Amino acid sequence: MTGPVTGALDAGLLDDVLARAVAVPAISDFPTVDALLDWFSALADDHPSLVRRRRVGTSRLGEPIDMFSIGDGPRPHLLFAGVHPNEPIGFRTLQHLAAELVADPGLRAATNATWHLVPCIDPDGTRLNEGWFGDPADRAAYARGFYRPAPSEQVEWTFPFAYKDAYFDDVIPETQALMRLIDELRPELMVSLHNAELGGVYYYLSEDLPGAIGPLHAVPAALGLPLHTGEPESPALERLAPAVYRAGSTRDEYDYLESLGLDAAAMVGGEGSAAYARRHGTVTLIAELPYWSHPAADDTSETTADYADVVRAKAEALVDLGTTLTGLLDDARADLTLRSPFLRASEAFVPMMTASGTSELVRAGRLPARPATGAEVFSNEEVVRMFRLRFGGMLVRALAAEASAGLATARLHRVHARARALYDGWLADALAVTGLEVLPIERLVGVQYGATLTMSHVLAARGSGLSGLSGESGESGRGGGRR
Ligand SMILES: [Zn+2]
Repeated sequence: MTGPVTGALDAGLLDDVLARAVAVPAISDFPTVDALLDWFSALADDHPSLVRRRRVGTSRLGEPIDMFSIGDGPRPHLLFAGVHPNEPIGFRTLQHLAAELVADPGLRAATNATWHLVPCIDPDGTRLNEGWFGDPADRAAYARGFYRPAPSEQVEWTFPFAYKDAYFDDVIPETQALMRLIDELRPELMVSLHNAELGGVYYYLSEDLPGAIGPLHAVPAALGLPLHTGEPESPALERLAPAVYRAGSTRDEYDYLESLGLDAAAMVGGEGSAAYARRHGTVTLIAELPYWSHPAADDTSETTADYADVVRAKAEALVDLGTTLTGLLDDARADLTLRSPFLRASEAFVPMMTASGTSELVRAGRLPARPATGAEVFSNEEVVRMFRLRFGGMLVRALAAEASAGLATARLHRVHARARALYDGWLADALAVTGLEVLPIERLVGVQYGATLTMSHVLAARGSGLSGLSGESGESGRGGGRR
């Protein structure tokens, strides 16, 4: 446990964080990999005494992965973006944070940290999303240009894992780079830059730190963004406060699936970064942000729908989605020649739709009767729309790759046409949802930036409240032994 704690943020610091969060200048797009890395290289060239550049790894396709370190305080902070390459808000957050740290000695002094920034940990995957980065408000372009790696190829979820009947050690090179960094730096604070898609703001914290929740709620409130109070990403998650969850571990997921009587070892993969870094006492923050908000995101009023029925309807729709996409894949399989990332992702995610729907059906059967909230109704419906667009879309891209390379057989062309027609219908359904508000990117960056500064200050206060240790990393009372 954490021992004596004085973690609350004082009012002056909170005011400073909120002022910085709302002052992020207007941003209209996301950078390509080349533009992002060029920007950081120029920053390092322009400020050689402040910004140190170092290669820390190599992507699977041979792209060097660089880290940029700013400041020389004793508190190591590690931030990495592009961890899911379809989630680019963090690219802009790291650019803004780096620019502020370089320009503002007051900010460097106030945090007393060394900031280690990895602008893009998955350049290969990010390049496959660049088609929609120029106009992120366009949901159709986003859907058609979306790419998310198969779980076994995701940086976040390929840390080593051994638990009960599960064993995973197929660690991809990008994750190996992060493991080396985490073990070398032993960060006091780690921020894995993710984002969500549609709804409200929510967070993951690896520890329930006193004094953290209030400021983490205050940041999106100051920016006029709703919290996400609907369905969490997994029923296995522990809710620490509204829209704040304990950072998930694959162990929790395993135990949850096992409790449903399912074959957990076959359903989980690797461990996450937060669980890996816990060995060093590292506190992890993840700030999840949507591109589009909806009035139902934080609607806690009761509806006439029963919650179990809402979950069951989603589960049945996911099983149906899995069955439909499996049929297309089966019809195409004999003629597929390209092991493209889109095909690898489709082959991994399509059966997961059936499995996820099946586990939610079991859960629905065990839920007591109670009314669902507006947020729960909307978020359960939205996840079906999102998965149809994501995984249907990547299957269409896998088939399109065969066609554009001149390799598609007549049968493959027919499967491609069927998949496109189905997908066009799903896209039309999603575009028919009313009430969406496109969120300005600077406000989303403001949340990640403000939340990061909040956690840095909260941890500094905890350090001073303990024994005067100024954040030297290690096991010195940082509550690393929770698990
Ligand atoms: Zn993510």
